[in-house]
Amino acid sequence: MTIATLHENGEIAAMPENPFAPRAGLMVWMGEEIVPVEQATISVFDHALLYGDGVFEGIRIYRGKIFKEEEHIQRVFESARAIRLELPMSPERLSRAMYETMRANDVTGDGYIRLVVTRGVGALGISIRRTANPTVIIIVDKISLYPLEVYERGLHCIVSSFARNHPNALNPRIKSLNYLNNVLAKAEAHAAGADEAIMLGLDGHVCECTGDNIFIVRRGELLTPGTWEGILEGVTRGVVMELAAKRGIPVRETSLVRHDLLVAEEAFATGTAAEIVPITEISKIPIGDGKPGPITRQLMEDFVAYRNAV
Ligand code: PMP
Repeated sequence: MTIATLHENGEIAAMPENPFAPRAGLMVWMGEEIVPVEQATISVFDHALLYGDGVFEGIRIYRGKIFKEEEHIQRVFESARAIRLELPMSPERLSRAMYETMRANDVTGDGYIRLVVTRGVGALGISIRRTANPTVIIIVDKISLYPLEVYERGLHCIVSSFARNHPNALNPRIKSLNYLNNVLAKAEAHAAGADEAIMLGLDGHVCECTGDNIFIVRRGELLTPGTWEGILEGVTRGVVMELAAKRGIPVRETSLVRHDLLVAEEAFATGTAAEIVPITEISKIPIGDGKPGPITRQLMEDFVAYRNAV
């Protein structure tokens, strides 16, 4: 397929190929059917595009099985409910659709699912009353992870100048398609030569990283911001809290400020894509001795054992 662009002077030039374009042959669930990725398109009138009006999930597949499927399905239904969006399918149908899309892509090993639900096509104007046909999109693909080296040396983070959404503006517990401040925080981290950004709330409390939850270890206790701070209630976060409890490591949801980060003995981030990744530097200050700590390493090991066992 030739992709071309029309210049102002009337000349047509080939567009440079996008190195990040989806691979040919990828099959995508689009609304009610599975189609080749080239046909998986939404209307320019879909309010997901016009207003970021929609919700999503990032889900892992390990050995052909959807990891924590019930939790992800529950969360997408909760996100949808919170934005007054009615999913056009039942949780059971959604599960079958994900497995059907995996089959269409011959995924029997590990992979990643991006589930998106758009508001649907509507009139121009933000009213949800003038929209119809929310669309379920299921992409099954590989996920690009942090390189192995990052798991060994740990993430270098900045504290972002972009605040996480205030819960009374758009609660981050809603996994909505409005991620622009997170996108900008990540870009800010990269511009500063760091890997990741830690986002604070408007009150200066620690919230989370741009796509991961955050934990610290202080005096042997595992601490993480509570959901009241304005964070996504991460599925991996839940697993890590469970694993720590099993190990007899005390876990507490609390309020944390920047100072707590800097005096932590250990820190790490958790998420579906990253799993558990140590944080060893924040604002150029080493965390602990600047190496992944023993509790972090223990939980990383426990997490691998846990997901290999389900
Ligand atoms: N926080 C944010 C902002 C995220 O986007 C994600 C990734 N979905 C997480 C935390 C981690 O959540 P989970 O463990 O469910 O992937």
